[in-house]
Amino acid sequence: MSYTEFYQQSVNDPQAFWGREAERIDWQTPFSQVLDDSRSPFNRWFVGGTTNLCHNAVDRWAAVQGDAAALIAVTTETPDAEPRERVYSYRELLREVETTAAILQSLGVSRGDRVLLYMPMIPEAVFAMLACARIGAIHSVVFGGFASNSLASRIDDAKPKLIVSTDAGSRGGKAVPYKPLLDEAIRIAEHKPEHVLLVNRGLAAMDTVGGRDVDYAQLREQHREASVPVTPLESNEISYILYTSGTTGKPKGVQRDVGGYAVALASSMETIFCGKRGETFFCTSDIGWVVGHSYIVYGPLIAGMATILYEGMPTRPDGGIWWRLVEKYRVTRMFSSPTAIRVLKKQPSELMRQYDLSSLKSLFLAGEPLDEPTSAWIAGELNVPIIDNYWQTETGWPILSIARGLDDRPTRLGSPGVPMPGYRVKVISEATGEECAPNEKGVLAIEAPLPPGCMQTVYGDDERFVKTYWSTFKRPLYSTFDWGIRDADGYHFILGRTDDVINVAGHRLGTREIEESICSHPNVSEVAVVGVEDKLKGQVAVAFVVPKRADALTTAESRAALQAEIMGTVDKQLGAVARPAQVHLVNLLPKTRSGKLLRRAIQAVCEGRDPGDLTTIEDPASLEQIRGAVQGA
Ligand code: AMP
Repeated sequence: MSYTEFYQQSVNDPQAFWGREAERIDWQTPFSQVLDDSRSPFNRWFVGGTTNLCHNAVDRWAAVQGDAAALIAVTTETPDAEPRERVYSYRELLREVETTAAILQSLGVSRGDRVLLYMPMIPEAVFAMLACARIGAIHSVVFGGFASNSLASRIDDAKPKLIVSTDAGSRGGKAVPYKPLLDEAIRIAEHKPEHVLLVNRGLAAMDTVGGRDVDYAQLREQHREASVPVTPLESNEISYILYTSGTTGKPKGVQRDVGGYAVALASSMETIFCGKRGETFFCTSDIGWVVGHSYIVYGPLIAGMATILYEGMPTRPDGGIWWRLVEKYRVTRMFSSPTAIRVLKKQPSELMRQYDLSSLKSLFLAGEPLDEPTSAWIAGELNVPIIDNYWQTETGWPILSIARGLDDRPTRLGSPGVPMPGYRVKVISEATGEECAPNEKGVLAIEAPLPPGCMQTVYGDDERFVKTYWSTFKRPLYSTFDWGIRDADGYHFILGRTDDVINVAGHRLGTREIEESICSHPNVSEVAVVGVEDKLKGQVAVAFVVPKRADALTTAESRAALQAEIMGTVDKQLGAVARPAQVHLVNLLPKTRSGKLLRRAIQAVCEGRDPGDLTTIEDPASLEQIRGAVQGA
């Protein structure tokens, strides 16, 4: 079936279309209704059906291809050593998952309980995710690059019974301790978990808290042979919560279902990612992000593929490491981000060219805009199609892409492509609230019902879900908060965010969160954080700070000291991922006469663009100061 036919069916008759797509997964009991949209936007997919993500990802394949590779974990335990590679067959993966599920149960975790994972890219993180799915516990993975305050706000929102963590992750050949950050987060948080399950990798010393902290290796010995049956879950029960940044300082818990998500992944693995059972998929994201949830863990396993879990940087031990893995494991489909490819572009080409990459059939890139030079360079090196795809934590799988599993529709430079099945994508004029004409810029929106796999609600806050996502326009449309255009052939182009969210190396960060953290420094009076274009990372955060005490501005030393302290504050509270690339000290911020920060003007000045209409500015000198600070840096 062609893309056009497939897509038309999905939007003309979603019930029939998704009813058929649902046959891609196993159901313990069949659903009675494909879609219940009587309480839109709170839609329910595959009502009454029971299924289980872990069954579909692991048990189903362990029964028919038990010896086939399932999880290939590549970790870096010791600095500077070659990465350690472990291959788990489907049978072995099932064993580990059952063992971990038994450990969770022994710690009192049951269906509906939340389990927070603060983990690096190690196999135990995948076992824990799948073990939660198996027994109906709700996992919430927090990216390892986040620090205590970010972690604490997530602990307080998800209220986990158990936290799974480790002594340290490994990055750039160095151990990055996790446990002290976790202990501090639990200290700050109001909610306290009953237990902390710790995987001790022997990378960093750990203080343990008696009665609370328990050792994974010890419990694993006890539960080695445990048999834990799959719990059939109603399709609309919660599989996981994944926090994402928005325009307020408080992250939103994106809540996902079980059945809809499984069907969306099974469908997209075939139609978009062309994954074939028995082949190897290599997604270089992190399990702390949605791409990692969908296309490191659940998607490839649901498709019966082997999936590579890779801890570390693409340049260690050298810039050939990813390509060595592609050769060794005969990777057919790879998924990465434009930033990672830009990093690799700086490496000597021989590192890549020494490997046999003939198994590779396509490379998917997502998370941020894909620029033409990056796309052209990697296409030339690999000689495979480069498929841009656009989506969000909220949707769980691509909104826009090219469905090469259906037909050979060409890609178009600078465009992530056309709407994927079930997504009724609209470009809405901000001025009129009506649909834009071709090539006219508007806000990218999606008409209800969103297809299966998309967020159910904001965890614990239905009102926020409706207010945030469904209230921008006159009619009920989901706002992506991205600007976009559609050309006359239906290809879409993404033109940046409409809100104060920035995208650093493919990671979404809320500028408000960073501002709140900076404001907690005792010598900060006011702050503005904006996203500024960056050649490598797409965007970086840049902060403009008005100190409380003007003496901080007097000497180069006093300025440098305050700048370093501010960076340190963000590092400690939010984590290195949120640290601004630059902190500029000024004594005035550009505001309107009514006191609103002129962020877009600040951003324009930082990027050397015309700041546009400044008739409302309170004091034009403030913008000159910004210009001076940026030029002086
Ligand atoms: P996240 O929820 O962290 O995955 O971030 C989603 C946001 O990243 C989107 O709303 C876009 O702003 C941006 N984004 C994701 N994929 C793309 C892409 N292929 N092209 C341009 N922007 C993208």
